[in-house]
Amino acid sequence: MQRKSSPAQEWEQFLIARQHVDEELAHLSQTGSTLLSDIFHVHREILHDKTLTDSLQRAIESGQSAFTATRQAFAEQVQIFQNLSDAYFASRATDIRDVGQRLLAYLDGVSLAQQLDDLPPNTILVADDLTAFDTTHLSVKNVTGIALAGSAPTAHTSILARSLGLPMICALGPAILQLEDGQQAIVDGIQGRLFIEPDEETLHGYQEMQERLRHFRIAAEVHTHEPAITGDGCRVPVRANINSREDVLLVANIGAEGVGLLRTEYLFQQRTTLPSIETQVEAYREIMHYFPGEVFTVRLLDIGGDKPVQYLPQPAEANPFLGVRGVRFLLQESHILQDQLNALVHLAVEEKGKTPIRVLIPMVSKIIEIHRVLAALEQIPNMAEVRYPGGPLQIGIMVEVPAAALLADKFAPLVDFFSIGTNDLSQYTLAADRVNSAVAALASSLDPSVLRLIAMTCEAGEKAGISVGVCGEMAGDPSTIPLLLGLGVTEFSVATPSVALIKHAVRQTKMDPARHLALQALQCSRAQDVQQLLKRFSS
Ligand code: PEP
Ligand code: MG
Repeated sequence: MQRKSSPAQEWEQFLIARQHVDEELAHLSQTGSTLLSDIFHVHREILHDKTLTDSLQRAIESGQSAFTATRQAFAEQVQIFQNLSDAYFASRATDIRDVGQRLLAYLDGVSLAQQLDDLPPNTILVADDLTAFDTTHLSVKNVTGIALAGSAPTAHTSILARSLGLPMICALGPAILQLEDGQQAIVDGIQGRLFIEPDEETLHGYQEMQERLRHFRIAAEVHTHEPAITGDGCRVPVRANINSREDVLLVANIGAEGVGLLRTEYLFQQRTTLPSIETQVEAYREIMHYFPGEVFTVRLLDIGGDKPVQYLPQPAEANPFLGVRGVRFLLQESHILQDQLNALVHLAVEEKGKTPIRVLIPMVSKIIEIHRVLAALEQIPNMAEVRYPGGPLQIGIMVEVPAAALLADKFAPLVDFFSIGTNDLSQYTLAADRVNSAVAALASSLDPSVLRLIAMTCEAGEKAGISVGVCGEMAGDPSTIPLLLGLGVTEFSVATPSVALIKHAVRQTKMDPARHLALQALQCSRAQDVQQLLKRFSS
């Protein structure tokens, strides 16, 4: 943009723009949820940040326009934050870019909000990344889905998109930016899949699903605070998967009966050093208090694979998903395991039995791993106060490696509950990397091979008298609920926007037809056949 006026006039223009953006942010922070209010509060702080303002003023005084100076000053700050190794600070780069865009939109006289408003109906927005600003200005009536080359599930954008109920897939890689305007696509936020120019059958299937979901959601939300009981009286707990501290801000009102999976990786990833026992206790306690008296399931650190922690020593591995992740890593770095167990025992003792605390061990494949985790637990003082048959501290395993499902009858007597991780169980059963889009279609959780492993796990759980939950993404799809109940699953844990839907799906299910459906599915040869069965069952 060309200089048109004196430095004094350019500075004046900047101050007017800043005033305007400040008022806009103040207004937004009063009209949104607590989460949005927090975000816009941070944005106002960035807007008045002294380092930014000083460098901007210097650039204007040296002859640049307000527009160019703003663009450069914000771009430099974004770069600095992006380069920080701390994931939490690196993600703040998005907030800085967001504030910069607001200022530039004003200075340029082009309202980005207007541009987003002008998108045609049924748009799937494809972008490198979106800022919180963009996301709050998306018109849900025009945008039906989001596909991002970058971003991450803990970024503000993802949290906001979830709160808007918009299907979104992130981290698809730069190739999606080559897509052309007007191409037809489907975003399946449940399975994390993007279909470009889908064939008629796929398109039709998804259109039907979308319409069914719309009706379903309306009915579901009315009853979200009521328990989920099947049509023939079976009570099925539906809990929330929590992936970050921010996630919990969205769950206060969704009717989740506790936490079925706290992915503790967030706590380790948003820092530059290991969290102390005290820091962990505080972090877990804060989330637990959103669900007073309800089951609180904390998964032990599951890093490795697609979940790196930059400051922890993990040599590069050729096949990281098959490498040192989950419990394998914890047993190697036993001080990390010990600290996390200590924090959880501390929390359980402090709660004096008011809240059942479940410890969930990830990526288990060998019996010896359970023995070793239990031995580590034995070493914790006070452990006996909370860990006894029927006591408030329970130990369970993620059944997400086929070996654990195949030996479920051997694992069951050693633990208090099973939680089936269908995301990993599918990738390992079908040997299809869950982050490789080239094999995404192979890794269907509905594949009969996966269903047989789920059935084996349920059978072993039932014999041992322990609960068997599903916490993988599969449980967030209402159409799979009769099948999973029929296979013997006794509880679910799902992403927060799905809680109401899944409770509703449970209420619509009766156990006898569900068992019959499961028997039929177990006899199928292909995932597509199971899909057809589910369609027929729900129609
Ligand atoms: C799973 O594997 O299904 C699961 C719930 O764990 P994550 O997705 O965190 O690996
Ligand atoms: Mg997993």
